[in-house]
Amino acid sequence: MCVMELTMKTKIVYSEKCLSYGTWHIEGPQRVKIASEILKAKGYEFVEPTPASEDALLTVHDAEYLWNLKKGTVEDPDTPAYENIYEFAKLSAGGALLASKINGFSLMRPPGHHAGRNGAALGVYTRGFCYANNMAIAVKKLGKRMLILDIDGHHGNGTQEIFQGDEKIIYVSLHQSPNYPGTGSFTEGNCINFTLPANCGGKLYLETLDKALGALDLSKFEAMGVSCGFDTHLGDLATLGLIEQDYFNIGKRIASLGKPAFFVLEGGYVGENVGMDIDNLLMGYEEKR
Ligand SMILES: [Zn+2]
Repeated sequence: MCVMELTMKTKIVYSEKCLSYGTWHIEGPQRVKIASEILKAKGYEFVEPTPASEDALLTVHDAEYLWNLKKGTVEDPDTPAYENIYEFAKLSAGGALLASKINGFSLMRPPGHHAGRNGAALGVYTRGFCYANNMAIAVKKLGKRMLILDIDGHHGNGTQEIFQGDEKIIYVSLHQSPNYPGTGSFTEGNCINFTLPANCGGKLYLETLDKALGALDLSKFEAMGVSCGFDTHLGDLATLGLIEQDYFNIGKRIASLGKPAFFVLEGGYVGENVGMDIDNLLMGYEEKR
């Protein structure tokens, strides 16, 4: 048996059902469809999620917000009230829940980290393409002391709002500033924020990630969830000038913490890049694990 066969490859959590809405939007089906095709061609094993229950969503969101989401009455300039969006949001949350159980990677949409308890979070006026906070729902369900590492290029204002002051959770975000949503410019208690200038490049990014993770007390958390956005990729919506090799190094750094991890897709709007970046991140993660 060769060495490759002994390495457990991270499974991809994915359902084609998430492709059937919002074809005109930048947060559209192509980004995950193309990424899924790349990962399939590379031999990843895929598993299908089932929708999260309403009770699971209620651990994070207020009933009134969910009711309005279900009725299709919540809309903002970034985040349309698509038909049946509540069902798509539940399935995407189900993807995060399954990923958290099997230490997999949820390649589902819609994303979640801008969604706070009642929708738009921390005074931001849109939900930034997000409906339910997938990562927060999975973390609540696990009920463990957790590190949430948010490597999307935007600050996860929803995740910060939900876990601000929660003693079981450490939230760490690296994001471009200035940019949407405008929050996360400083550290507040258990929510540790690092801002980076547009196109700062992989060297500064990885130095900052080292600083962020190096300062953590590893005894404070049992496992980690990674809010994985790839809009930090060169040329994307929150570009930090990162290229494929940088995601390999990010994956290695995540593995070096020595904790069980799962991954949930956030942003990243060029499907080819999303697929290649996920592959690189997971290769780096698995090499070091
Ligand atoms: Zn983003």
